[in-house]
Amino acid sequence: MYLVHEVPGHRREAHIPTLAIHYRRAGRQPLSRLREPPTLAIIPIRRAGDPVLREKARRVRAIDSSILKLIEDMWETMYDAPGVGLAAPQIGIPLRVVVIDVHDYPPFALVNPEIVKRSGERRCDEGCLSVPGFRGEITRSVKVLAKGLDPKTGKEVRIKGENDLLAEALEHEIDHVNGILYIDYLSGPEALIPLSDAPEIKA
Ligand SMILES: [Zn+2]
Repeated sequence: MYLVHEVPGHRREAHIPTLAIHYRRAGRQPLSRLREPPTLAIIPIRRAGDPVLREKARRVRAIDSSILKLIEDMWETMYDAPGVGLAAPQIGIPLRVVVIDVHDYPPFALVNPEIVKRSGERRCDEGCLSVPGFRGEITRSVKVLAKGLDPKTGKEVRIKGENDLLAEALEHEIDHVNGILYIDYLSGPEALIPLSDAPEIKA
C-alpha cells in the first residue's frame, strides 16, 4: 500500500537511503562492525493481472533464515517504492508474510497474519503498489484487530488499529495474502482514479 495523501508527521523514511535502513534494521550496529555489506534486494513489484496476486498464499511453517531474508527484501522493496505496506505475493512469493510501516506506529512484520475482529465502516482513499498510478475510494473497517507471528521472537502478537492508517494497512495487506486487491471493492475499472486527477494536484 502507498500513501495517497500526505500524512502530517509521517517520517518519510523513503528518503533515507535504503542501505542505511538495512543497517538500521540489521540491529543498529555501526557500519564499521559489519564485516560484509548485506546483499540488498529490491525486487520488482508484481502488478494487478499477475496470477501470484490472486493466489491464497501459503502459511509459513517455520520462521527460518529464508523467511528472515524475505522480510529484509520486503522492507527494502517497500521503502524503495515507496510504500507503507507490502505483502510477499507482491514480490512473487506466495507466502503469508506482510510488512507495514505507517506513521505513529513502529514498523513491524507479521507472519501468518489474520484478522481477528473488525467492526464499523468508513470510506478510505486507497492506493496499492501493485496498481501504480491509481487510487480508489473503498469501504474499510473502523476497528481492526489482527494477529500473527512476530518473526523476531516467533511469538504471536496482536495489533489493533482504529480509524487510522494502521487499520487500513492491516486490512489491505492481509487481503493481499488472501488474493484480494482493493480494486475488487470498486464497482468497476471506471471507478479507479488516476493519481494525476487527485484534487490536490489539480488545485
Ligand atoms: Zn497493495
